[in-house]
Amino acid sequence: MSLRTLIALAILLAACGGPAPGDIDLDRWRKADREPDQWLALGRTFRGDRYSPLTRINAENVATLGFAWEYPARARRGRVEHGQEATPIVVDGVLYVSGPWGAVFAVDAKTGGERWRYDPEVEGSYARRACCDVVNRGLQVWRGKVYVGTLDGYLVALDAATGREVWRVDTFTDRDTRYYTITGPPQVAKDVVVIGNSGGEFGVRGYITAYDLETGQQRWRFFIVPGDPAKGPPEHPEMAAALKTWDPNSNWESGLGGTVWGEMNYDPDLNLLYVGTGNSSPYPIWYRSPSGGDNLFLVSILAINPDDGRLKWHYQQTPGEIWDYTATANMILADLPIGGRVRKVIMQAPKSGFYFVLDRETGEFISAEPFVFVNWATGYDSTGRPILNPKAVYREAPAVVFPSMVGAHNWQPMAFNPETGLAYIPGREQGMVVVSEPQYKWRQGAGNVGVGAFLPGIADALPEAVRAAFMGIVKASPDLPPIDSGEALIAYDPVAQQERWRVPVGSTDWSGGGVLTTAGNLVIQGTSAGFLTTYRADTGEKLGAIEVGTAIMAAPVTYEIDGEQYVAVIAGLGGAIAASMHPPGTAPYRYQNYGRILAFKLGGGKVPLPPERVAQMTPEPPALPGYSEELAARGEAAWGAAGCLFCHGAYGEARLSAYPDLYRMTAESHAAFDSIVLGGKLARAGMASFSDVLTAQDVAAIHAYLVREQGKLRRKELERP
Ligand code: CA
Repeated sequence: MSLRTLIALAILLAACGGPAPGDIDLDRWRKADREPDQWLALGRTFRGDRYSPLTRINAENVATLGFAWEYPARARRGRVEHGQEATPIVVDGVLYVSGPWGAVFAVDAKTGGERWRYDPEVEGSYARRACCDVVNRGLQVWRGKVYVGTLDGYLVALDAATGREVWRVDTFTDRDTRYYTITGPPQVAKDVVVIGNSGGEFGVRGYITAYDLETGQQRWRFFIVPGDPAKGPPEHPEMAAALKTWDPNSNWESGLGGTVWGEMNYDPDLNLLYVGTGNSSPYPIWYRSPSGGDNLFLVSILAINPDDGRLKWHYQQTPGEIWDYTATANMILADLPIGGRVRKVIMQAPKSGFYFVLDRETGEFISAEPFVFVNWATGYDSTGRPILNPKAVYREAPAVVFPSMVGAHNWQPMAFNPETGLAYIPGREQGMVVVSEPQYKWRQGAGNVGVGAFLPGIADALPEAVRAAFMGIVKASPDLPPIDSGEALIAYDPVAQQERWRVPVGSTDWSGGGVLTTAGNLVIQGTSAGFLTTYRADTGEKLGAIEVGTAIMAAPVTYEIDGEQYVAVIAGLGGAIAASMHPPGTAPYRYQNYGRILAFKLGGGKVPLPPERVAQMTPEPPALPGYSEELAARGEAAWGAAGCLFCHGAYGEARLSAYPDLYRMTAESHAAFDSIVLGGKLARAGMASFSDVLTAQDVAAIHAYLVREQGKLRRKELERP
């Protein structure tokens, strides 16, 4: 070979330098343990345990952890900022993470430099179809492509090198009359990529669909609950079997839920796809399946063969579920010593408050014990059925039920550390009061839950008389613990089914995000108060808290490049907690909220804080023609009933929302009020018309309520010295 040829070859190699972007295949997926420097799946490996074997950052030196870089993860510049819930994937030096609407950011994992960004250009009115903000919980990187679901129901395959769309498919069965959205991540399982959907509170029928990785062609679809038998035969054999667990006169019109919006898992050795399913709509079984029944496959873990979409086994956690206890929390695959042998298990700590351990090959029930206080069941029998407490059934009278429907553990991922043998759960000790609606009928567009609920987090938003009535019910059950003991990081031994330690989160940090654990004896968790907190994994000793000034809800990851270990997380306030209360002085109050990817390293500097919010005097509200106190009182009730408070928050100085503050509207906003709420003037920005659920009289009442509150706020500010 001539010198010239050699030089040409060297130049060619340098140009090609390094692996192709997004180069993860089945073999690499299976062997991810051998690459501790990477973070190849949402849960790092197919086990989904969110455990990293890296030790450069550890309990002894984590105090020097500091700022490495940041990237402004703004999905749409100039629009309202939304919540960030996704876990990044880091492969061969590139960090990929999804954002609101199904946006994708690809950045250099060492420097934060942008590789590309993708905006799916979702029509803003889809925001109205999302119960809990326009969030997205993750993407998957596979063989040079990035797969992500968009809020408006498309599964998209992007070129991992450029972010260009390779293909996109419409995953919705009905986008005209049903409020489907996608907020959950896709899951690759051998030759297919599988995606579910959200909308369980809005009266949809849940399903997952598998598509060919290369072409996007549909391979199979698996419904979670049966459709109306009068409209056609069951779509697949599992639906014929499930149908027998429903009343023939079920409320088919309501869709019946069972949506899959959490993380799925794929075990390449067993070739099984694991799917956690959601709650029903409506919640009361007496309205959806009047004669009862288990109502398969609500609130279940399903093991599906991805080659043909056939069910291998299923386990239903809460048969005939009525409390919104979804089984959509993240699942973890582990090999644990149980009963004298090592068993391949799947574990989940769902909203219902029980920690489940199942054999992941057969679905055999191994154990379930509560990891917080629960009163809806006294335990599980040896066959894996819950022993129900009739006092938690709210059919005849309101019931005080633990946990609340916010969940003992919700979507914020837990982690499992095989060295300590402990799972780390972002947990919540909280109850609720549930009331059955006097009657329920499916309603287009609006909430279809069929219950009223008193949740401690939004208690202050309720009219005083309603709140007092609920508190009276709580006080009538003195044998129960306090209705809200707050959040805690709970270290739990899944073999012994026992708690090992817990640290309260709620008192100072309000709400804990997803969790990372490492071989450096670390547990790392962000908080919505704007801190990244570190703990010793074996004891729970708090090691530090780095102020970042932005609420963290998502789970951090860690990876290593050129001998340096990094911790990275995507931050940004929003989601279901957008309207909840934060202690004054915490990040959501002090700083402007926008999405940022933050990376940390040992010896790094102080994290740059976002610009402070500028406190503005509340403008004088206009005099509304036809205003009366009675009208304003009706508006207060309508504000709650129409769900306005989920996005715009509720009155009170200790409240705020990621969405525009309607309690401090300008004269222009007041003048445009009807054209926005009824006319859909701001539909592109996410505030679509409510003319399908609100009359002009309702809107006038809501406007009167907002004017009343704005006047109160203004007077309070004027009285201040
Ligand atoms: Ca739900």
